[in-house]
Amino acid sequence: MIVVMSPLATKENLQDVIKKLESLNLRTHLSTGDERTIVGVIGDKKIIANLEMEMMTGVEKTVRITEKYKLVSRDFHPQDTVIDVDGVEIGGKEIVVMAGPCAVESLEQVREAARAVKEAGAKILRGGAFKPRTSPYDFQGLGEEGLKILRDAADEFGLKVVTEVVDREDIPMIEEYADILQVGARNMQNFQMLKALGSAKKPVMLKRGLSATISEWLNAAEYIMTGGNENVMFCERGIRTYETFTRNTMDLSAIAAIKELSHLPIVADPSHGTGRRPMVAPMARASIAVGADALMIEVHPNPERAWSDGNQSLTPAQFKDLMANLGDIAKAVGRTI
Ligand code: PEP
Ligand code: MN
Repeated sequence: MIVVMSPLATKENLQDVIKKLESLNLRTHLSTGDERTIVGVIGDKKIIANLEMEMMTGVEKTVRITEKYKLVSRDFHPQDTVIDVDGVEIGGKEIVVMAGPCAVESLEQVREAARAVKEAGAKILRGGAFKPRTSPYDFQGLGEEGLKILRDAADEFGLKVVTEVVDREDIPMIEEYADILQVGARNMQNFQMLKALGSAKKPVMLKRGLSATISEWLNAAEYIMTGGNENVMFCERGIRTYETFTRNTMDLSAIAAIKELSHLPIVADPSHGTGRRPMVAPMARASIAVGADALMIEVHPNPERAWSDGNQSLTPAQFKDLMANLGDIAKAVGRTI
């Protein structure tokens, strides 16, 4: 349930509302807008069903929330959430670009990628040190050594780091090196990991599961937020459909849906979303047009020789071209890049 306070409500009125809710063992979540304050209420459904808050001074109305997710919902928090990633804001006017190789292979490879993506305007370096691979015989990542490489290259070129967590036991260690913790598509419903990320200190980027509905995805984010970590962003990376020409079907409508249903930022990943180099640029442009707050793009100094996802990785020159062509579309939808 949400309690909408009247624009004329005083601080004392708000305090009284919170006191009453807390006395019933309900959790409250405040969202302060320019005009109104909204109090989100979470807790025992039966207690909430019997609440009569409209009688209290300063309360304009109450609205029942039927969806299971609450904290991620725009009803609870009407304004867009802006996540501060150590000085880089995601969810504001500026579209942020994260780029880099699929996997960390060597210091030289990551440095070369970092230099190229920084020059072209990216703010965040991506790269997997723990790789969730379909086959156990494929390269599984360099582990902590890969994290050190990422951090060093990012620091050298003034970038932030996003990297994937595949095991909740690794969270404290990965947090030492990364600025954003990525939950991969294959782990979107790893609820133990989501709970553990609820007490992580770093923002989390939650990729959409290969066959997850939008509601399942929102509920997965709720797991993280309810644990206390409010810095969650979504990432649309394509879903599995009957189509085989593309690796996945990039669901642009999910970006618009997330913007409608949630206040949290959304990142678009046209690299995994299509799996095809020629389609990365057009789908990146389309993602901005439909409301994405950030892009994640795979870039490799030499995609032909990449240890993973070479087919969808851009060369540094292609990435530079793409970046040069995003400004107009960003401007058309009132954003900058
Ligand atoms: C990745 O970003 O490298 C990755 C493995 O992505 P996904 O979980 O979307 O497949
Ligand atoms: Mn990849």
